[in-house]
Formats: sequence, structure tokens, C-alpha cells
Amino acid sequence: MSGFSIAIVWWDSMSLDINTLFLVTIYVEAMLGLLLLFAWVQNSGIMAVAWWGCAHILRAASVVLFGLYGSVSNLISIDLANAVLFTAFAMTWTGARVFDGRTPHPLGLFAGAALWLLACRLPIVTESPEARILISSGIITAYTWLAAYEFWQGRSEPLVSRWPAIFMLFAHGALFLLRTPLSAVLPWSVNAQVFESVWMTVLSFEALLFTIAIAFILLAMAKERTELLHKTASLVDPLTGIANRRAFLEGSAMLARRADTDSTGAAVLLIDLDHFKQINDNYGHAFGDRVLQLFAQTACANIGPFDLVGRLGGEEFAALLHNSGKDKALATAEKLRAAFAAAALEVDGHPVNATLSVGVAVSQHGPVDISAMLAQADQALYHAKERGRNRVELASLDLVLHLDSTTPSLRIPALANKSAA
Ligand code: GH3
Ligand code: MG
Ligand code: MG
Repeated sequence: MSGFSIAIVWWDSMSLDINTLFLVTIYVEAMLGLLLLFAWVQNSGIMAVAWWGCAHILRAASVVLFGLYGSVSNLISIDLANAVLFTAFAMTWTGARVFDGRTPHPLGLFAGAALWLLACRLPIVTESPEARILISSGIITAYTWLAAYEFWQGRSEPLVSRWPAIFMLFAHGALFLLRTPLSAVLPWSVNAQVFESVWMTVLSFEALLFTIAIAFILLAMAKERTELLHKTASLVDPLTGIANRRAFLEGSAMLARRADTDSTGAAVLLIDLDHFKQINDNYGHAFGDRVLQLFAQTACANIGPFDLVGRLGGEEFAALLHNSGKDKALATAEKLRAAFAAAALEVDGHPVNATLSVGVAVSQHGPVDISAMLAQADQALYHAKERGRNRVELASLDLVLHLDSTTPSLRIPALANKSAA
């Protein structure tokens, strides 16, 4: 027996078993819906998972209604069943919108069902199975492609599982769109007993596989999103949105290794806001927070796209300028100092006149040791404070020698207690 005839027999035997397929589909849809809802309860931050869970439960309900075909009126087993099915697809699409931070679209949510119920009142539609198939396939394709489009729009977020989700939704929509032309061409076209046609079995089987695959892909997306948020939260300073101490030290070590291999050198700026305690005392802690945010914005706008800035703690920040010699580092530090002084002249209507001091350490060549450079920059910062603040100081070779001879193990300066007054 050829492979083709085996396939025909297989499909043929499958078509006999459509009721089993319906039962399996109802069971699987309901279980997947509950699984998604359970996942949502556990991590209720991701509301989209609840939408997707409800979509599966609703799809299970629609299959129950389809299964009643013959024993109840067509109004329920076809018209209503399809309306529920379309709303389920609309919920999957809404979940995709919500997942990427967009709001649900109330009109769009029920548009497919409403369009279908209206069309079912037209004689031209009720009398033509082809017209009904065309409309129902069109609605399902529209919703699945809309969901794929929503995920596509959020593709800048680095979630690996976003891509199989886009592909699955697109492929499922395409299959439904091809359903009408294919059913006319293929020998197993829709016949009078639509529920016994092989084509119906193929679609139901594909729908079952799709629903299993998409549920797990969507779950994986939600899990990946949660992990990404946790990872980001562990690396980002919540007040200023820039790298926290850990992320800065890890990131700068990485950039320094690159500088090593490029043999271009690197510079470290250690930045401390001047008389910050006074700002807090005069205007309150919340206002002080605003000034810290203003610094972070100014810093991001004044360093290169491949450089790194982080908050080491309190009102102390550091920047790593990679591929930067002494002149470039001093120029960047001076630009940052002047930009902050200008931006913080007046904050939220208060004449703050906030300034900052910068210590600069440069590694012209050879291996870049970030903690050693931070220690040098710390000494330079001490001098900047000592010499009147609101200024930039470069670590001198003397300082390096001094450190080498007096510091048994170099400390990370943010922990150091600078007391220059
Ligand atoms: P200097 O010019 O010598 O650096 O003086 P300073 O007042 O800036 O330094 P000092 O170390 O005496 O004070 C730092 C202040 O920063 C004390 C602390 O209350 C404040 N601070 C630390 N973290 C935060 C924060 O997250 N928000 C606010 N608003 N203030 C903070
Ligand atoms: Mg300070
Ligand atoms: Mg300080």
C-alpha cells in the first residue's frame, strides 16, 4: 500500500472518530484553560495569562456546543457555538495586547461574534455553507493574525518564545484562510454532513494540536517575561533606572575585558553629588530623590552609547568609558559636571544649585583592573572635594604609587568613607 493510500485510510478512519476528537478537544481545552488560570493565580502580575486561560475555557464551551449538533437547534450548535469560538479567539488576541502593555479593545473583543450572528440572519449566508465557512474562517484568521501582529509589535523585548508564538498564530490563521479554496480543490471537500467530512477532522485535529502548542508557548512567554523582570530588577537601581552597584561592577568588568583585547584603554569616573545632605535637609528626602534621578538622566545623556553608568550607592555614581584616553575622559567628566550644574540650577521651581565632583582614573594600556581604577578615582574624588567641589580631578601617577605601597588590598571606593569637608 502506498504512503498516499495509507494517509487516505488514516484520514478516513479519523473522520469516523470525530466524536472522540471532540471529547478529547473539550477535555484538553478545559485542562489547558485551568492550567493557565492556575499559573495566573500563582503570578497574578501577568494579566494576559488570565485572558488566555479564559480563551481556552471558552473554546472548550464552544466545542461542547458544536458537539450538540443534531440534538439541539442549529441556532445553538452552529450560530452560538461559532460566536463563542470567535470570542475565544478574540480573548487570545486581547491577551496578546495586554501582554505587551496595551489595553483590551472592547469593540474588537465582540466584533467577530456580532458580525457572525448578524451574517447568520442573512438568507444568502444561511443558504450557503461556503459563505458560512468563508466568514467563520475569515474571523478566525483575523483574530489569530491580529494576535501574531501584537506579539510582533513587542519583538524588541528579548523573549525567545515570542517567535514560535508569532509563527504558530500566523500558521493557524493561514490554514483557516486557505480552508475555503482548499475545500473546493481537494477531493475531501465539505459535504452535506459537515461534521463527518474528512476536512472537518483535519481542521479539528489541527485545532487540537494548535491549542496545546499555543498554550505551552504562551505559558513559556509569561515565564520568560517573569524571569526577565526579576533579572532586570536585580540589576537596575529602582530609583534612577540605571545600573545598580552589582550590574555596574559586572558590566564594567566585561567592558574592561573588551578594552583589554582591543588594547585601547578605559577610564573610570567616580562621581559624588556635593553637599547632598543639605539638599535633603532643605527640601526633603523625596526632593533629594528627584535630584538623584536628574543626575541619572544627565549622565545617560552625556556618556557614549557603549559606556556604562551605575549608582554605587547613596549619591555616589560611577561611569566606565571604554575606548577612552585621558583627554577624552577629562572632557566627558567636565561635560557631565557642567551639564548637571546647569540642569540642577533650579529643580521643580526650587533654586537648588546642585553640583557634583568627579574623580577620573585612566588606564592607557595593559590589563584594566576595575577595582584598582575605582580606588584611584576615589582618591582623585577626595582631592576634588578638598579643592572646593564642583570640579573634576585626574588621578595622578603618584596616587597610583601611593596606593600600591600603602593599600594591601584595594577597596571598592563606594564603601569608603570619604570625609573631606
Ligand atoms: P559631600 O559634598 O562631602 O559629598 O557632602 P554630602 O552631603 O553630599 O555627603 P554626605 O555623605 O554627608 O551625605 C550624603 C547624603 O546622601 C546623606 C544621605 O541621607 C543621602 N542619601 C543617601 N541615599 C539617598 C537616597 O536614596 N535618597 C536621598 N534623597 N538621599 C540619600
Ligand atoms: Mg556627596
Ligand atoms: Mg557620598
